[in-house]
Formats: sequence, C-alpha cells, structure tokens
Amino acid sequence: MTLQERANPAPAETGEEFRTRLRAFFTDHHPGRAPKDPAERFAWNRRWLATMFDHGYAGPGWPREFGGMELSFAHQVIYQEELARARVPGPLGTGLGIVAPTIIKYGTREQRDRWLGPMLRGDKVWAQGYSEPGAGSDLPSLRTTARRDGDEYVVNGQKVWTTHAGDADLFFTLVRTGTPQSRQKGITYLVVDARARGVQVRPLRDLTGGHAFAEVYFDDVRVPVADRIGEENEGWPLVRTSLGHERAAGAMNQAALYRRVLTELEDLARERGLLADPLVRARFTDLEIQVRIIRYNAQRIISDILAKGEPGAASSVSRLLISAFEQEIHEFALDLLGPAALLGKSAAQSVQRSRWLHGFLRTRASTIGAGTREIQLNTIAEQVLGLPHDPAMPPR
Ligand SMILES: Cc1cc2nc3c(=O)[nH]c(=O)nc-3n(C[C@H](O)[C@H](O)[C@H](O)COP(=O)(O)OP(=O)(O)OC[C@H]3O[C@@H](n4cnc5c(N)ncnc54)[C@H](O)[C@@H]3O)c2cc1C
Repeated sequence: MTLQERANPAPAETGEEFRTRLRAFFTDHHPGRAPKDPAERFAWNRRWLATMFDHGYAGPGWPREFGGMELSFAHQVIYQEELARARVPGPLGTGLGIVAPTIIKYGTREQRDRWLGPMLRGDKVWAQGYSEPGAGSDLPSLRTTARRDGDEYVVNGQKVWTTHAGDADLFFTLVRTGTPQSRQKGITYLVVDARARGVQVRPLRDLTGGHAFAEVYFDDVRVPVADRIGEENEGWPLVRTSLGHERAAGAMNQAALYRRVLTELEDLARERGLLADPLVRARFTDLEIQVRIIRYNAQRIISDILAKGEPGAASSVSRLLISAFEQEIHEFALDLLGPAALLGKSAAQSVQRSRWLHGFLRTRASTIGAGTREIQLNTIAEQVLGLPHDPAMPPR
C-alpha cells in the first residue's frame, strides 16, 4: 500500500471520520511554534512539509502518481479547514499552486518526475519570475531574452517583485525567444536554477519592513533546453494556466484561514467589551457573509478544476473577493483597537504582537499581486459577464 493510500480516506470512511484522523495527524506531528529567526523558520517549515509528504498527507488535489492525495472535492475542503485549524505552515515559495499545475499539464514525463515530488516535499523551493519593470499587467511586453545556443539558452534581463526569490532553488520564468515585437507569440517558459552563474538576487524592502520579494538579474545565464516547459515561443497558453491557478490556489486555504481569523477578531472584540455595540456587530455580520461567499466561491473553483482541469474565471472572482476582504478585516481591526493598534510588536502594551497592524500593512499589496484589482475586474467583465474585450489587453 502506498503512503497516499494509507493517508487517504477509505471508501467507508465518512467526512467526519477523515476530519478526526487528519486532526490526530496534525496534533501528533505538529511542528510547534515557528522560530523567530527567519533562516531557522525556513528550515522548520521545510521539515514540516517533508513530514506531511512522508506520511502521505501532502498535495490534497494532486494526482497520486506525483505524490499527491487526489482527494475528492468534499475531502479537499475538509483538508484545508483542518490545515488552517491546526495552524501549521503551508507550502514554501510560489511553486505549488502555480507552476505545478503547468508542469502536470505541459511538462514531459521526465520533468514531472524530476520537479514535482521535490516541490511537494519542500526539498526545492520555487519562485515566479514573470513581472519585469514595464511588464506587469501588460506581461506580453516583457524583455528578458533567451538566445538558443546548442543545447542551452543564454538568458539576459531583469525580473522584479519576485516573491521568495532569496529562498528559491528554482525560478519559473518567462523569456522572449521571438523578436522584440513578437508580444505573446514569442514567449517561452523556462526554469532557471537560482544558483546558476550570472543570476543575481537583490532583496527589496516592503512596507512591513520585510524582504518578501526581490529583483532578479540574469547576465548570460545558461539554461539547458531540457528545462524549457512546452515549445519554444509557445509559452503563452502555459502562462494562462499558471495565472488561473495562481488565483485559484489561495482560494480554498484562504477561505479556511479567514474563517479562523474572523473568529479570532471576534474573540478580541469580546474581550475588550466591544461586541455589544450594534455598529460593531453589523460589521462583523458583513464580514461573516463575505467569508462564507469566499468559501462557496472556492468550492466552485475546486469543482471546476476537478471537472475541467482548469479553475476558469471563478478564480478572478475569488481573487477579487479575497483581496478586498483581507484589506477590510484588517482595517476593521484597526478601527476596533484604536491607537493601541499602532504599537509595535515589542511595545509592552502591544496587542497580539501587533499582528493586526502588520496585516493591515501587508494587505495593501493584496489588490496588486496575482493581477491587480482592475485586471480581475476586466477578466470578470469579459469572461463572466460577456462584455467586450479590453482593447488595451492582448487579444485572446
Ligand atoms: C505582494 C506582491 C507579490 C508579487 N509577487 C510576484 C512574483 O512572485 N512574481 C512575479 O512575477 N510578480 C510578482 N508580483 C508582481 C505583480 O504581478 C504585479 O505587480 C502586477 O501584475 C501589476 O503589475 P505592475 O506592478 O507592473 O503595475 P502596472 O501593470 O503598471 O499597473 C499600474 C496600474 O495600472 C492599472 N492598469 C494596468 N493595465 C490596466 C488595464 N488594462 N485596465 C485597467 N487598469 C490597468 C493597474 O491595475 C494598476 O493600478 C507581486 C506583486 C505584489 C504586490
């Protein structure tokens, strides 16, 4: 019996029995509190991912042949809820939700074998090198080039806002192999070794004071042709798969996570005697409705992926809802706490180590990352409501 078969629900096991078993697994193997030091925290997170993988409890939606659990829709929902409840760390890097579905769909057998297992186990951390200065929403204008030289490409250019670039082992990037004007017809999907000669990572400091992302420079970096996903100049359909999954990936675990966060904020309001205020209650009711809508929408995405293999436009709806919700709940938290919310985490009177202020600052970026709010609105207008195509965007 494989690890996955052992971890997976038996036909006779009900959802609640599966939940109980998951809960026991997360309790028995819980990695404890996260270390404060970033390097130690990173290693701790990696160890936890390996533990989940080694016991067959990783990759709830992934095919079993790649180390996943291939759970049913209903069991994936339970899995995400229990993961959030257990407060255990999730995947490192941006690979799992974004490039993995692309590799599963477009990669060769050899690439799947080489990349998927180590990604799921946390042995290799992946970062997404799409955006460039001047190529964000208008991604087809990207200028990083790759010139074919025998069995290798020679890559030159710059990426920006690469989340987890400093921790990454591999970058999944988009490069121009066509003419400078070729737009989306001359783009190729390449995987670049983060430690290859000519790769330089320069951290960028964000609003919270952290270094979540970086600029990445490529100076004559040599990349084996074997590390190209799909055909040369035909990377664009892969991008659409990746972006759709990027927007979908967060949906289910964020729905479960924000259910918990909302309860935590309610507890805080209760402790501070604020929950009796009718205006406070009205805002909590509104947030409760939103969190449920996010959850139902996430379920639509999972059922789309299971039925059609792609998340579809529901992922843009989800991204829009979650980014607005994330900002609203943190703004509300600051309103509730008043000036106390502004105290730094080391201040004696700080509230919950200033997590709400940190969340408020962090979520300023929510309506930008994974495609801006305006781009999501465009997608929803066209693909959900059937309105005309935005002339500023590349043709479909
Ligand atoms: C926290 C965070 C993490 C990120 N991580 C990564 C990562 O790991 N890898 C990566 O490659 N990138 C990453 N990004 C970059 C992100 O994908 C881009 O910032 C985003 O796509 C927007 O591109 P831009 O910043 O170039 O803004 P622009 O595209 O220049 O947009 C500027 C403004 O113009 C608006 N706009 C542009 N075009 C249109 C249009 N057609 N219609 C209406 N309005 C429009 C935008 O909505 C925005 O308000 C990250 C960004 C953030 C904030």
